[in-house]
Amino acid sequence: MQHSEDLCVLIQESIAWGRQLSDDAQEHVVQCSNCNEIALQFTSLDSLVEEAVDTSVPANFANKVMATIKGFDEVESLEAKGRVSILAGRIYGFRPFQYAAAGVAIFLGVVNLSQVLLSLLSAG
Ligand SMILES: [Zn+2]
Repeated sequence: MQHSEDLCVLIQESIAWGRQLSDDAQEHVVQCSNCNEIALQFTSLDSLVEEAVDTSVPANFANKVMATIKGFDEVESLEAKGRVSILAGRIYGFRPFQYAAAGVAIFLGVVNLSQVLLSLLSAG
């Protein structure tokens, strides 16, 4: 029993690696349901891979993909810019921000004015 399981593991590894099976191993695969199942799975997997590889790649496929990716990047950056400008518009159009900006401007103006006044006073 143990010996048979070891043989199954060896054979299934060979199947997985795509190694050529010996006549004895092929005989075992035909008779052993476990190895048979594995062999079937890898056979269908192989044919799947072959189909994928055989599928003809259209001309300029790589260029088209790159162009699509590049276009996607451009669209994304445009969207990002759009979002930024919309966000900026919302911030600048936001009334409290206008008051705050005006407040900062007035504050800076007052600071400038007081500095001028102070410099005048200290000079005088
Ligand atoms: Zn087996």
